[in-house]
Amino acid sequence: MRLIPHDGTQAMGEFRRYPGCRLLIACAACSWSKAYDPELIIDRLRALKSGGHATRVVDVAKRVQWTCPACGRLRWRAQFAWPPQLSPREAKRLADRYRN
Ligand SMILES: [Zn+2]
Repeated sequence: MRLIPHDGTQAMGEFRRYPGCRLLIACAACSWSKAYDPELIIDRLRALKSGGHATRVVDVAKRVQWTCPACGRLRWRAQFAWPPQLSPREAKRLADRYRN
């Protein structure tokens, strides 16, 4: 994954500025990580009535309640990142989709 540098204060809805990106939830203690589709996270926040597009990325990390499967701690960071397999063509397709 290629991290998209940011301090985490951006809203979840801003994932649209980075077509095809994922939200990478990473353990701050051992760097184990897992990537999620930002749209699914927003759907879930809305379903739980606990947030949505305006929820900040840092607050998504704070809401993660499970401990790290690698080291057992509960210290998560969240950041938008590009999946390695995203081709320029796919990025363009997604950019066009979000524009409409
Ligand atoms: Zn860990």
